[in-house]
Amino acid sequence: MPNPAQRQLPARVHLPSGTVVRLSDAAARAQAAAVLGAAEDRDGAGRALPGRCARDVQILAGPSVLADARGAPLDPLGLPLPDAHVLRALLAFAGVVPEEPGAYSCENCGAPFEVAPSSLLEIGPFTDGELDDPELDRPFDFNVPHPIPALRVGRAVCRRARLAERTVEEAMPLLRLPGDGVLRITPSVVVAMGIAALGNERRAPVIADALATAPDEAWAAIVDLYHEARYPKRLFAVHRCQACGARNDLDVPLERELERADLRAPGEDAGDRAAPGAAASGAAAFPDLDAFEARVRAAAERIYKDRGVRNIDLFIDAGVPACDDGGEPLLGCYTPGTPADELGIARPPEIRIFYRTFRAEAREDPGFDVDAEIVETIDHEVIHHLHHLAGSDPVDDEEHAQIEREQLRRVGQAEAARRARRGALSDLAGFLRVTWPAWLIAAIGTALAWCEGGR
Ligand SMILES: [Zn+2]
Ligand SMILES: [Zn+2]
Repeated sequence: MPNPAQRQLPARVHLPSGTVVRLSDAAARAQAAAVLGAAEDRDGAGRALPGRCARDVQILAGPSVLADARGAPLDPLGLPLPDAHVLRALLAFAGVVPEEPGAYSCENCGAPFEVAPSSLLEIGPFTDGELDDPELDRPFDFNVPHPIPALRVGRAVCRRARLAERTVEEAMPLLRLPGDGVLRITPSVVVAMGIAALGNERRAPVIADALATAPDEAWAAIVDLYHEARYPKRLFAVHRCQACGARNDLDVPLERELERADLRAPGEDAGDRAAPGAAASGAAAFPDLDAFEARVRAAAERIYKDRGVRNIDLFIDAGVPACDDGGEPLLGCYTPGTPADELGIARPPEIRIFYRTFRAEAREDPGFDVDAEIVETIDHEVIHHLHHLAGSDPVDDEEHAQIEREQLRRVGQAEAARRARRGALSDLAGFLRVTWPAWLIAAIGTALAWCEGGR
């Protein structure tokens, strides 16, 4: 991975709206030096710094930084927000603006890590114009109200919010807010956020009052909705945990105009994601380990009988769940047995069920049916066992293919092909590097043989 300082801004970029723009790396760096220098002066003079988003827009607005596909100057103020945020992500990716590493903890094992997420962004689909993935590139639906947890608006209780599209210029009152201050929700912020309606209420001052006093759960949902509407789904980075291998998806860029609310309940294990308001909504408690184990064993007994299998060890693992090759924490896994070694010790095949993955899924999704998922998981692992006994496992092959397809959608087809070519070249270079003494000896041998032959 190249040092972000050595990376260039891509010269041509496809934006989510379909617009193609040109960027000048040199002009952007010159403008960034001026804007960042002025910000430092203001900071030194004790004056408030503008928000990072407004700062990035100021850089994009610099002379010759941004142009349309034909090279005519383009004013970033007119861009829809998702387009502008892609360009902001590229500024951070290329190191034109600094991005401090964010402090995170692994969603699977809780291990802390620090990383600047924009440096991990996959930019291929933006530079190659491959923004057609049905999920990652699906535009936000501005025509329908979106469900949110109940909140009081005036004298009504509302459960839906509708957002309107916003350009950079329209969102400026929000983009300008300093990131470290407390957000005061005024009518002008509501308009800048593009909250067009809460329930039937459309008046900005009433919406502002409602948001200012909204329960945490409802506010968090509105912030999530806002991010969904303004930041293309593609703007995320994948960090693989060094401790457990889990994939952690991180927002790119790190600096956003609205902070996602921290919903972690105090006193929870670091590795466990708490469901927002689970206690308040009275969701059924997840079974404790003993109850869970009893349910798993009862289900396994039935499934083993139905499938006609026996002697597969069943282990309920309450530790950090193992992950698949894509870094997703597993609900369960199957390990084939091993024949007797020289001491005559054979190991039976094993099915392992990961308690913490079940618990995390149940917290994430209130509709998660624990017993149905237990049955499905055990049955799935028994099928792996049967395929293993038969000599080949098409289910396992398909799981690997699925992980590769997912990776390809994120990296992009053209970029993946470039990497494969580079990989092949570096494999050849590596092969020559490692084997050169043998080649040298062969060459000397040939030369000697030739000399001898010439004698
Ligand atoms: Zn981890
Ligand atoms: Zn499987």
